[in-house]
Amino acid sequence: MPLCYYCEEQQRPYFGYYCNDCSMLRRLLLINSPQKCIDILKRTLTRDNKQIGFKINQEIKKILNKEIEEKGQEQEEINKTDSSYMTRSKIKK
Ligand SMILES: [Zn+2]
Repeated sequence: MPLCYYCEEQQRPYFGYYCNDCSMLRRLLLINSPQKCIDILKRTLTRDNKQIGFKINQEIKKILNKEIEEKGQEQEEINKTDSSYMTRSKIKK
């Protein structure tokens, strides 16, 4: 049997261009947008285990920073409610 036109590693069926794996990749690209697939593959396949560890830490930091930011906003709102002694014009700012 002839080789797949894409990967040039596996054999393709006589009346087809691609092997089974490459055919599946092609179908997945057709179901989802190519851009979406590229984003996912870039995020996952372009890292070794060490880089995946870094990425996980980075994501955890993002989550923690977001929580800290949200707590800060809550504190600001508490401060705003404490400003009841202010006149209306000052609160509007
Ligand atoms: Zn192939």
